[in-house]
Amino acid sequence: MSPNKLVRAVFPGSFDPITNGHLDVIQRGVKIFDELIVAVGVNPEKHELFTADERVQMIKELVKDIPYVIVETYQGLTVDYVRSTNAQVMLRGLRSLTDVQYELQLALTNRAVAGIETVFIMTSEKYGFTTSTLIREVGRLGGDVSGLIPDSIYALLKERLARDKPPTSDDIDS
Ligand code: ADP
Repeated sequence: MSPNKLVRAVFPGSFDPITNGHLDVIQRGVKIFDELIVAVGVNPEKHELFTADERVQMIKELVKDIPYVIVETYQGLTVDYVRSTNAQVMLRGLRSLTDVQYELQLALTNRAVAGIETVFIMTSEKYGFTTSTLIREVGRLGGDVSGLIPDSIYALLKERLARDKPPTSDDIDS
């Protein structure tokens, strides 16, 4: 490889919402790549808590002081998007052996169908059990997830869950 070649990576995901684990991967990723695109996928099949634009805004605010990090949304196949950015690699985070099995399958498929290589970064042990799905579920049931997501996201999560809460019989009576 030419010594001057810039390496651009795409970190795709749902980020619904972004967690400290995702941020940890971003912070480690920027030390390795010249440019990192955090790509928020739009999946009409998934019931998302935050819209893609909201997720992008949340991430932009968090990474605004980290140079060479770009945040975008994309639709459709991740590999098509990665190719459209001219990135050399896709970045994914690993937490556990369960992730390895799924991510290996995904990475091999992406390489087979599109020739895209995947690079993995292991998250800090303290975020090894953090998932956006669990954060949404625990948050919905009133659990305290404040240590697992940035403060700004925690505030937005509480607000969104309160808005989406189904009415109780007290609400209906009053
Ligand atoms: P997806 O729906 O594509 O899995 P996610 O937003 O859940 O999107 O995850 C995006 C990427 O971030 C995946 O590679 C996932 O393994 C990784 N990831 C998710 N949570 C963490 C975490 N706590 N630590 C490190 N990587 C994580």
